[in-house]
Amino acid sequence: MSLFACTKCSAVENTACTTGYWPHKMDDKPVLCSECADGKWHGLFPKRLLKDTHYVVAKNGTLEPPGGWPAVGSAPPQPEKPDVQGR
Ligand SMILES: [Zn+2]
Repeated sequence: MSLFACTKCSAVENTACTTGYWPHKMDDKPVLCSECADGKWHGLFPKRLLKDTHYVVAKNGTLEPPGGWPAVGSAPPQPEKPDVQGR
């Protein structure tokens, strides 16, 4: 799942949340957010325009924070939780 900016309205959209991305991407067409592709914003997260975010467009056309996404697995390991006890 990646973020991209809608070609039509420049809304920040998730590739998994719209029908307007992959089929269009494959055909080299403009990529659309759910509102432009389906007529209705999906509501899974607030619609924001690219200029209202700090995202930058990466080489592959998707969006990322300045400096890129944190590397996968860079989060510190979670301490193991002891079994629930004392009941
Ligand atoms: Zn749009």
